[in-house]
Amino acid sequence: MQDLIAVYRDLSRRTDHALHLGLTEAGMGSKGIVASAASMGILLQDGIGDTIRVSLTPEPNGDRTREVQVAQELLQTMGFRQFLPVVAACPGCGRTTSTVFQELAEKIQSDIRVNMPVWREKYPGVEALNVAVMGCIVNGPGESKHADIGISLPGTGETPAAPVFVDGRKTVTLRGPNIAAEFQVMVADYIENRFGKGRAAAE
Ligand code: SF4
Repeated sequence: MQDLIAVYRDLSRRTDHALHLGLTEAGMGSKGIVASAASMGILLQDGIGDTIRVSLTPEPNGDRTREVQVAQELLQTMGFRQFLPVVAACPGCGRTTSTVFQELAEKIQSDIRVNMPVWREKYPGVEALNVAVMGCIVNGPGESKHADIGISLPGTGETPAAPVFVDGRKTVTLRGPNIAAEFQVMVADYIENRFGKGRAAAE
């Protein structure tokens, strides 16, 4: 990896030609992702690189599109391009024994991937959306306030209530067995209002 960084830095000093970044034989799974992100991230931050390719050795019968997803996530994480709405989720810790926040974050993330081909046309700018799904009251409200729409799910021993924050303000507290489904509806409504016809009506 150090060789790759040194070679590209040297190349960028010697030529004004467009440079295509890629770490071949990066490897499988997390090893390949970390190696690609670390090496290309350093170069991109220095303004080196015009196109990128993430090369991952797929698992048997694995999905080749993973390479594209990782490349997009790298550029989006670094703030250079936006491809998909971001779902921020807390990592979980001893404050929560529930998997609800993980399942909800995963559901919203996969909904976004499935819907994006349509949303891109229907909701211009939706890739800038930021959703937070947090696991307890300690950091949940604070992080949720920083998202466009966020939910702070109850942690272990907390009252089974989930405040929802929209554009930094608490709007409603969800309770009961359908919190996840109700929050998904709220996310869909937020998208419609902010990026769809609702926005046009409000303007
Ligand atoms: S939000 Fe709560 S559950 Fe999630 S990592 Fe932070 S302290 Fe732990």
